[in-house]
Amino acid sequence: MDGALVLRSGDPARVVPDLAREVGAVSVHVSADTGVHGRQRDAAVERALGDVPFVRTGSPYAVTPGRVTKSDGTPFRVFSPFARAWREHGWRAPAPRPESVPWSTGVRSEDPPEVSGLDGVRLPPAGEAAASDAWRRFRAERIDDYKRTRNTPGTDGTSRLSAYLKYGCVHPRTLLADIEDLDSEAADRFRTELCWRDFYAEVLWHRPESAREPLDGRMRAMTYDTGPDADARFAAWAQGRTGYPVVDAGMRQLLGEAYVHNRVRMIVASFLVKDLHLDWRRGARYFMQHLVDGDLASNNHGWQWVAGTGTDASPHYRVFNPTRQGKEFDPDGDYVRRWVPELRDVPARYVHEPWLAPDGVPDGYPLPVVDHAEELRVALERYEQVRALISRGRGSSPAAARRPTAAPAAAPAAPPAAACRWPRGAPSRSPPAGRWSPRPPRAGPGRRR
Ligand SMILES: Cc1cc2nc3c(=O)[nH]c(=O)nc-3n(C[C@H](O)[C@H](O)[C@H](O)COP(=O)(O)OP(=O)(O)OC[C@H]3O[C@@H](n4cnc5c(N)ncnc54)[C@H](O)[C@@H]3O)c2cc1C
Repeated sequence: MDGALVLRSGDPARVVPDLAREVGAVSVHVSADTGVHGRQRDAAVERALGDVPFVRTGSPYAVTPGRVTKSDGTPFRVFSPFARAWREHGWRAPAPRPESVPWSTGVRSEDPPEVSGLDGVRLPPAGEAAASDAWRRFRAERIDDYKRTRNTPGTDGTSRLSAYLKYGCVHPRTLLADIEDLDSEAADRFRTELCWRDFYAEVLWHRPESAREPLDGRMRAMTYDTGPDADARFAAWAQGRTGYPVVDAGMRQLLGEAYVHNRVRMIVASFLVKDLHLDWRRGARYFMQHLVDGDLASNNHGWQWVAGTGTDASPHYRVFNPTRQGKEFDPDGDYVRRWVPELRDVPARYVHEPWLAPDGVPDGYPLPVVDHAEELRVALERYEQVRALISRGRGSSPAAARRPTAAPAAAPAAPPAAACRWPRGAPSRSPPAGRWSPRPPRAGPGRRR
């Protein structure tokens, strides 16, 4: 690319100073990385550059993390007051496009690495021009309906800009400047979504350990299932074979497009944590392995928001009912049918609960792996046990955090066996060994056609 892009691989603390010496750089400029690894990497590069100044200019956020604080200087933990302060703080206009850039020429570059392991995943076109196109189309054709359509995964209602934002193909300030003159509720909703992105970066900036640990340390006492049954449930979730159509559609969209609609991210995350009783970190890791927009701050804090270990105060009332969510946000089943071909011919009325269809569940599609009503009870019980521990001042006990499965010892525990029900008559698979009970899902016995 005539020096406009030079690729070199290796340890940045060695490669960047070598290149700087090679081209006689008088300073090295980057967009500040406020993530956990990025901060450490940039500090190492800065040290290795010695006398050559390392200049961090701006960040990938509308407002750089660390700038919006409470009046006493402490960080926000709750979104709404952060969002108010974020709007009051405001953001600078995007940097003007330079007339020309004198690129170095003749600098050795490596070839782009071979991409492997995508297995037919359909990725969006890469680069700044593709990002601008996607934004122009959304701004012209869809933003007016955004408030209404952003929650319906069967329609093309959101911007699909997350990967472009993640990789710096477009900057949030460019988007915010472009909608400055729109004072519709829809445009405001879009601003709020960009604010969520800044908020999670802010939280991670102040609490880098929250990438791996519950932000709310008291929630370390929460117990999750482990072992072969838990692994089997995780595999069913990861492959989109839970028997809950909207969950399966979401997980298959992840494998097919490396992307999942936001509403469905919440549904599948809730299902993993509250119906399957598995650790949110397992799901977050799987998302990071597969998402094209995978971003530590938005992903891990999105998971923690759902798991009730993060930035929100009322976790245990938030349990998504996958059937009800499907009916509400995908009423005609368009999203489910797009991703779950086994359900293509199921009438809309039954597409979110095919076990109720007069002809039964179509061949090849699994019966529900658990009974949501029963798992809801178990999930609430576990949250209540944590609350009881917290009120007795034992919530953040590291010992409790390490206990592998079952419920906390101090409170009357639901036997872990109750956490997993296998519906009667699930003929296509034999239940995993051990604790699976042959009770049917409350919605009714599964049948096959
Ligand atoms: C469990 C879970 C995991 C998530 N993981 C990621 C992730 O790895 N990377 C990521 O970019 N987003 C993540 N999100 C947030 C959100 O789902 C995506 O940003 C959104 O679906 C991207 O689609 P879009 O660009 O069409 O969004 P739009 O609705 O068009 O929103 C515009 C932009 O606002 C930002 N945004 C929107 N919603 C959120 C949100 N809830 N949190 C943070 N930023 C938001 C994104 O940058 C998005 O591109 C996650 C949410 C959940 C619940």
